[in-house]
Amino acid sequence: MKRRDFFKKAGVATAAGLGGLALLSSCDQGEKKDVSAPAVQKSKKTINVVSTWPRDFPGLGLSAQRLAARITELSEGSLEVKYFAAGEKVGAFDVFDEVSSGNSQAYIAAEYYWKGKHAAFNYFTSVPFGMTTVEWNAWIKFGGGQKLWDELSGEFGLKALPCGGTGTQAGGWFNKEINSGEDLKGLKMRIPGLGGTVMSKLGASPVSLPGGQIYENLVSGSIDATEWVGPYNDYFMKFYEAAKFYYTGGMHEPGSCLGMGFNASFWGGLTKNEQALITAACMEEHAAQYEETCAKNGEYLAKLVKDHGTQVKSFNDDVWDAFGEAAKEVFEETRAHSAMTKKVDDAYQSFMRECGTMMANFEVNYTNQRNRVLNIS
Ligand code: CA
Repeated sequence: MKRRDFFKKAGVATAAGLGGLALLSSCDQGEKKDVSAPAVQKSKKTINVVSTWPRDFPGLGLSAQRLAARITELSEGSLEVKYFAAGEKVGAFDVFDEVSSGNSQAYIAAEYYWKGKHAAFNYFTSVPFGMTTVEWNAWIKFGGGQKLWDELSGEFGLKALPCGGTGTQAGGWFNKEINSGEDLKGLKMRIPGLGGTVMSKLGASPVSLPGGQIYENLVSGSIDATEWVGPYNDYFMKFYEAAKFYYTGGMHEPGSCLGMGFNASFWGGLTKNEQALITAACMEEHAAQYEETCAKNGEYLAKLVKDHGTQVKSFNDDVWDAFGEAAKEVFEETRAHSAMTKKVDDAYQSFMRECGTMMANFEVNYTNQRNRVLNIS
């Protein structure tokens, strides 16, 4: 090493603190590096994360807390995540403004909660008759989806990453059987996102409530029906106490994914290494939550039936057709919202048709035939 280069590097080390001085000293004397010398101090950054889930909320809440802890762990404490569940710093639906304004550095939420801010946010959680989790992941990572998400979030001073997936969500909990589109008329149902808009076209009254408030509204009769996630997450919500008909995979959220949204200025101030570390932690949890849900849904569906007398139903073709007609109207309106929404919808629908054709001919065809031959239903 040239002497000039050495002093340049040593200067950097010295500026880094006492660890730097120890390193300079040992090198100067031509001795072995003193392993007992304190390590170079890393700068510490605090990330206040506000979430839409209550503290220790089974499934979604625990997943968010796991991600928060993982970022701190992977960074060996140099990125110190302070996690605030819904209501601990701000209310569940206030986290977007909290982070967009820079009061906190990041949120963990479902992006479709922000459809009032911009209709295109729906596509970054799930839309009716949309992609499954596997298809959506392919779009985000390899089909240009993340670039569009960045463009949309950037309009609000945010940068978001995927951080959880629940697979195809259950059609919902109802206190009566749903055998036609007519049966949905007048129904007050908790169902957010564009799925709720589809329901409204069929005469239902959709409401968007945070997870922590659904049970009390269902039990009191303020709402007649609700959707949430799927058997594993729903089991702990005790909806079976107020509604006994539970519908299998619905049209409204075929592959819901969650997002961790960062204040864009904060994100831009992170080093490339810190950004890569956070991205890796998010992708790890994104996969883990989906896999955990897949692993536990079967077990908890059986428990709902056996322990609580839940009656599992599937919507018939008439109901699906009614959903389909209503969804067409909803998408026409959604596309008319803005040039950005049209651009996202064009890209989304195009990718879904291409990927969906492959899925139909390989994954779905195989799964259907396997289940038929082995009598799995
Ligand atoms: Ca849901």
